Order: sequence, then C-alpha cells, then structure tokens
Amino acid sequence: MQTIISNATIHTGTQILENQTIIIENGLITNSEQKADAKIIDLQNKHISAGFVDIHINGGEKYYFTQNATEETIQDIYESSLKLGTTHVLPTLITSPLDNILKGIEATRAFLEKNPTSGVLGMHLEGPFLNLAKRGAHLAAYIRKPSNNELEEIIKYGKGIIKLMTIAAENFNEEQIEMLLESGINISLGHSNATYKQAKNAYNQGINLCTHLYNAMTQMGHREPGVVGATFDSPDVYAPIILDGFHCDYAAARIAYKIKKDHLFLISDALFVGEKVKQFQWEEFDAYLENGQYRNSEGNLAGAAVSMADCVRNAVQQVGISLEEAIKMATIRPAKALGIDDKIGQIAAGFPAKFVIFDKNLTDFKPLVL
Ligand SMILES: [Zn+2]
Repeated sequence: MQTIISNATIHTGTQILENQTIIIENGLITNSEQKADAKIIDLQNKHISAGFVDIHINGGEKYYFTQNATEETIQDIYESSLKLGTTHVLPTLITSPLDNILKGIEATRAFLEKNPTSGVLGMHLEGPFLNLAKRGAHLAAYIRKPSNNELEEIIKYGKGIIKLMTIAAENFNEEQIEMLLESGINISLGHSNATYKQAKNAYNQGINLCTHLYNAMTQMGHREPGVVGATFDSPDVYAPIILDGFHCDYAAARIAYKIKKDHLFLISDALFVGEKVKQFQWEEFDAYLENGQYRNSEGNLAGAAVSMADCVRNAVQQVGISLEEAIKMATIRPAKALGIDDKIGQIAAGFPAKFVIFDKNLTDFKPLVL
C-alpha cells in the first residue's frame, strides 16, 4: 500500500521544495510512480522535514536512563521524544559504575533487537572518564581515569551499541583514544579541562565532535583558547549546542553559528521530556524544575528541560538563524556528525518515512511515522 504526502513545503535536508509529493511504501520514501489506490495525506500547506535527531537525551517523561538503565526507560525516552517530533534518539547514560554502564548497554541491545526499525539509534555514553574540574552535574565519586581494562570491557560489550562516547581526552593516552576510535564508536570531547593544544591534538587524532559546546569545557581566553577555541579553530569538528536560553546566551550561540556554520547542530540534553518531572533525586544527583530549567541544590544546571522542537524555534526566533538552516541543524547535521546521514535525517528515496510536521510560526510540531 502506498501513502502520498501532498500539499506541503518539504525540507529535504538539502533544499526546500514547494508543491511536491512524497511517496511512501513499506515505511520507506520511494521514487516509484504514484499508484491509483494510494492513500493521500493532505498537509494543507504545512512544512515537513525528516524527524528530528537528538543525540543527547537523558530521560523521558517518567524515567532517567542512568538511574533506570532499562528497556522501559528507552521506550519512555523514545515515545516522549516522538510526541514532539523527534523520531531518532540516542538515550544518554552518564557517569556511573561499570556495572550500570553494562546494564545500559544490555538494555539498549535488547531494545534494538526487539525494535529494529524504531528511532532508537543506540546509546550515548557520557562519561565516566571525564575531568573532575568540569564535571558539571556528574557525580564526582564515579568520575575516574581511563584504564585499559575498563576501556576494553566497554568496547567489548558496547561495540555496535554505543554510538557516541564523551571523554575528557586530556586524561587519555594516544593508544587509548586510538582503541576507542578503532572500535567504531564516535568519540566526543567534553566535560574537559583541556588546553587548546590538548584539544587540537584530540581533534587531529580523529575525534570529530565536542559535547554541548560552551558547557563543561575550557572557555576561549585570548592567551589560552581552550576547548571552545580549538573547536572554533577546527572547521571539520561538529559542535552540538543547547538552545534553551540557559546553557548559553543566544548571542554566544549566534557567534558560534557564524564560526562553525554547517557544523553547528542542536541537541536537547533534556533531563526529562515535557516538564512532567518537577523534582528528581538519583543518589547525590538532584534536580528541581523552575522557570523551564533543571538545577541541582548547588544551583548548577542539571540537564535541560527543552525539546528539539523548542531548540529549533529558539534558533529561529532568538538566535536569528533561518528556518531552513534550523531544520538542518536538527536533522541532517547531527546525522552527519555521527556518519549516518546516508540512513537518516533527509527526505530522499530509501530513507525512513519518519517525519515532523510544523507550521511556519513554529508553534506546533507533530510526528508522522508511516
Ligand atoms: Zn554533560
């Protein structure tokens, strides 16, 4: 059975098309001819793009992945993100003991086996080999220096499941970074106290993105440009940014966009989705929702409370980025950063029929999964 999406402004990921149709068969976009008995979905001039891709999301409406490293949490993260137009996610497990990391890996593996065509891409392991000086809300007790033994365990169990891992590269030796890169896991530089030179070395070794630009990293000083400066000075390095208005000033985001151009993209880094959870405690990690932000009892930001749709709206309305660009920053660019832009993040033949529909005022984002 064919489905035809008609009467829409189509953001393909590379261009905007007016008055064209999208033809779908068996859950995939196709180039084949329109059939007479096809089901028609008339979008009445709304906009459509590939669904948003969120590579940094910590919890759903109910559960927090690091606290409940289970299939139920992955389902919660996926479903609650989907409601707001995010069709692809990397549930993010933060700094915790090795047995919890392995539990998260196994839960993700089981989920992927049962739901091979869902939008869950694998997992993001943020930590535990971070720099204590830039731990943010991560628990100091579980932050540790990388040992070959633990890295080997993580790679052995996480290969093919962990799609992204955040590390403070300055605490690794070259062989350890090489070991991670060779395993096929995308490595991101974050929660890092690296100097400009250390960060440049990490990027030169093959690390091709950073974690939540500006947050939990050395800032750009004129004599020591830090991780931020190294990221700005490395055109091929991707930089995800949290546009909730709290994690960085919108002017700082505008400057980053001018420098990083098509290598700046959006993440939610949401602690929970939809502001359903107002307060939260996991061991020493606590968070309270107030005025659209989660803060811990020390007053530090403890993850965001926004969706990818909110970030797209803020990119356009607060930062001044064009709608076309903002949509790319939530779709094809995160896909490119992970090297999976041939599979998701575009409207083109062979890509999954997982979309987000929205109006030009960006007030309403709805998923469409066929
Ligand atoms: Zn973080």
